[in-house]
Amino acid sequence: MIKRIFRSTCLVAVAVLVASLILVMGVQYEYFAHAQQTQLSSQLDLAKQGVIHEGMGYLEDLSVSGSRVTWIAADGTVLYDNQSDWDDMENHLEREEIQEALALGHGSSRRYSPTMMEQFLYEAVRLPDGSVLRLSTSQHSLVTLLMGMLPSVGLVLLLALILALVLASHTAKRVVEPLNQLDLDHPLSNVQYDELAPLLRRIGNQQKQLSLQESELRRKKDEFDAVTASMNEGLALLNQKGYILSINPKAAALLGADKTCVGADLMTVNRSLQLQKLLHAAQGGQRAECVMELGGGRYQLEASPVISDGSVSGVALLMFDVTEREQAEQMRREFTANVSHELKTPLHTISGCAELMMQGLIKPEDEKQFATQMYQEAQRMIHLVEDILRLSRLDEGAEDMTRENVDLYALTQTAVESLRPNAQEAGVTLQLEGESVNVEGIPQLLSVIAFNLCDNAIKYNRRGGSVDVRVYREGTDACLMVKDTGIGIPPEDQSRIFERFYRVDKSHSKEVGGTGLGLSIVKHAAMIHQAKIEMHSVVGEGTTMTVRFP
Ligand code: ADP
Repeated sequence: MIKRIFRSTCLVAVAVLVASLILVMGVQYEYFAHAQQTQLSSQLDLAKQGVIHEGMGYLEDLSVSGSRVTWIAADGTVLYDNQSDWDDMENHLEREEIQEALALGHGSSRRYSPTMMEQFLYEAVRLPDGSVLRLSTSQHSLVTLLMGMLPSVGLVLLLALILALVLASHTAKRVVEPLNQLDLDHPLSNVQYDELAPLLRRIGNQQKQLSLQESELRRKKDEFDAVTASMNEGLALLNQKGYILSINPKAAALLGADKTCVGADLMTVNRSLQLQKLLHAAQGGQRAECVMELGGGRYQLEASPVISDGSVSGVALLMFDVTEREQAEQMRREFTANVSHELKTPLHTISGCAELMMQGLIKPEDEKQFATQMYQEAQRMIHLVEDILRLSRLDEGAEDMTRENVDLYALTQTAVESLRPNAQEAGVTLQLEGESVNVEGIPQLLSVIAFNLCDNAIKYNRRGGSVDVRVYREGTDACLMVKDTGIGIPPEDQSRIFERFYRVDKSHSKEVGGTGLGLSIVKHAAMIHQAKIEMHSVVGEGTTMTVRFP
């Protein structure tokens, strides 16, 4: 600003100076010309007297510097000239001042001499003998005048420049100071300059708009934060360079960062190579995904480029928990493998026996034994398939089964009675005690729970042992307890016996007709009834299983 004011002030000062100079020089030029002419005329009068009295002798003795003296005869012939050889000079009769002097007695003129490149003043007077005496001198040129004034002009110019500089900085300060003190938070409260009112009004309006937009943006951001904070999935928004713009708590926790990571490079927060590749692809405009181990679980990461105006302006990173999905897939794979394996053995046995029979290689007395074996294996397969079907129905949530009010005691009694022959065969005493307790549930599943628990208690018992079944109420819970004096379950297997196809002793389980699915069916059926299973088992002493229905 100082520069602009300085430039304008200088321009004005120089313009004024030049205008004044032109005016002064014009006036001076005229003044000096007049003064020179007057001086020349009085000198001519003196010289006239000298020539009248002394003739040529006066002129020859005259010593004048600066002026030219010429004596011209009435016919124009030059009689004398103090600066040139008068014999060679041309006739002067036609000269303006000579004509004028001859006619009027006195003549004057002003002429530019191209040979001398100067302006000359001429004064001529007629002498009594008819001849003319002429004096001439060169007039002060504009350049001479200017040269004479140059030091003063230079001084004035310098003073003007200094003054302009001081004035400019002073003015700038005076103008700028109130501008610097403007309260832009409340633009309309400023009263410094009336000229600023439209500008301040515009600033005020823009500020209002900005604050409206800001509160709108904040509201949207709060909404976005509230939505993303309650998400089970991790979500991070990155700019085109991979810096975090927004991250929800889940994503921050998974990447091992906190809220302060906003604004940081994602790569400094998590240095995983997989993540790096994923981001690279998204930054290149391609959607990419991968599965990573994060926060103790398996997460699927999806990076999508955010395209605006045809180029990638950011990346949206989404993280889904796929731990359960992967576990379920793993379980399904294992289950299929186990089922095939379990079915293979009885099928091979049956097929083998049938082949021997077909080829007539079995003696008639052994036929019964082979048929029995085939029957047993077929039974095993039937049990296995029944259990698998039961499990798959339970996996689907047993939604087609209806719930009703069931007497748990009566239901258990039926199961116990159906197992009594097995107990007798195994040499195990089986007894049921308790009271009638009503449970809201699915009768088929409750029967399966009671049957499988009692069946196991008999199967994994010893000859002479006992199975005590009790149905009772404890607080608001209905309980079914099956206690045996059997072989017990080793502590390391206790947490695993509810897994599908898990058996502590595989051969013993097969020997007693186990499928390895009984307890997983019990666990599933209990879950559907929100019931809890408690187990207490000591190897060699026995096992107690209690199912607690809320
Ligand atoms: P299975 O058809 O083999 O009996 P389950 O799922 O019913 O399969 O039981 C899993 C395993 O748990 C059995 O193979 C057995 O080793 C063990 N088990 C279950 N109940 C008892 C029990 N009452 N006493 C000792 N071991 C048991």
